[in-house]
Amino acid sequence: MTHFSDRVEQISISGIRKVFEAAGEDAINLGLGQPDFPAPDHARQAAIEAIESGEADGYTENKGLQSLREAIAAKHRRDQGIDLDPDDVIATAGGSEALHIAIEAHVNQGDEVIIPDPGFVSYDALTKLAGGKPVPVPLRDDLTLDPDDVEAAITEDTAAFVVNSPGNPTGAVSPPEDIEAFARIADEHDVLCISDEVYEYTVFDGEHRSPIEFAETDNVVVVNSASKLFSMTGWRLGWVYGSSRRVERMVRVHQYVQACASAPAQFAAEAALTGPQDRIDEMTETFRERRDLVVDGLEDIGLRVPTPKGAFYAMPEVPEGFVDECIDRGVIIVPGDAFGENGAGYARLSYATDTDSLREAIDIMREAYDAVV
Ligand code: PMP
Repeated sequence: MTHFSDRVEQISISGIRKVFEAAGEDAINLGLGQPDFPAPDHARQAAIEAIESGEADGYTENKGLQSLREAIAAKHRRDQGIDLDPDDVIATAGGSEALHIAIEAHVNQGDEVIIPDPGFVSYDALTKLAGGKPVPVPLRDDLTLDPDDVEAAITEDTAAFVVNSPGNPTGAVSPPEDIEAFARIADEHDVLCISDEVYEYTVFDGEHRSPIEFAETDNVVVVNSASKLFSMTGWRLGWVYGSSRRVERMVRVHQYVQACASAPAQFAAEAALTGPQDRIDEMTETFRERRDLVVDGLEDIGLRVPTPKGAFYAMPEVPEGFVDECIDRGVIIVPGDAFGENGAGYARLSYATDTDSLREAIDIMREAYDAVV
């Protein structure tokens, strides 16, 4: 009899994939979670030079190139005022691997991990792979995570809770007082806060803050990535940082699952971090315009949609049958329950696509809405 691990049998291919498979080739795809901008030229050039010179041929240090980790530390010093030692950073194969090693290094068999619901699909799956138990916490009406609800969900088995602001699939940005509360909860209850900040640069209203700015203990680790910050999803380069003792545990996992992040991608990310940053504001402005267009369009159709304050997703409440009607008519959106039980009755749409397609998609969604109500 074929033998598979109980852990792998608990997880399945994400619901997002199924939606893509159901859609025709010329569909308007509002299902994708990646920015529709090219990677910065200077990042591409740095990789090309590193490849041509042979510098990118060998393994790097497990944690990544010293120069890359210095660039990451400088970035967080600049943006959050965090005094980060480059030795306390691990370059990873995207934020995805960063989440994996953070959870693997901190979660024991049977430990609970509190996750936002709806939330990014990896939190649930990676917790199960580590032998832990995901504890989903529903969101407020505005789709932010309530620190009181996180605190109430803590038990003696809680190993960690995940905070994701700006959020996928919601576009919600937690206000600074909530971020401060998450830090206090991590401190007072002695549980780890895993703060997934991969959409850090895409904030329209309010500002991005990190629990690590407020925490008095070392109970926060931060996940970030070049994927969304610099529109480099295919390069697979992210990072995780925290205290030395936590990094030392995470690098044990990283060493065996990855050895080191791809060297050409490390050179590219270093250039993205140290080169001109003017494109970031441009990207955010473009997303803001599209956010306005999408929110106006959805409200005009008659849907309730909490105004997204960041990332590039909107999550309207939708009537029964709406998602299928959209997909049948050639607009791909993702049913909210792909992101957790409490996502039922919502849909996620990504506006990482041009405004003409967004306008066309809104017209089609109006027809889909009329067909089901
Ligand atoms: N966290 C969140 C909230 C995400 O949406 C994603 C990508 N969709 C990731 C982490 C991982 O991204 P990557 O591995 O490309 O850095």
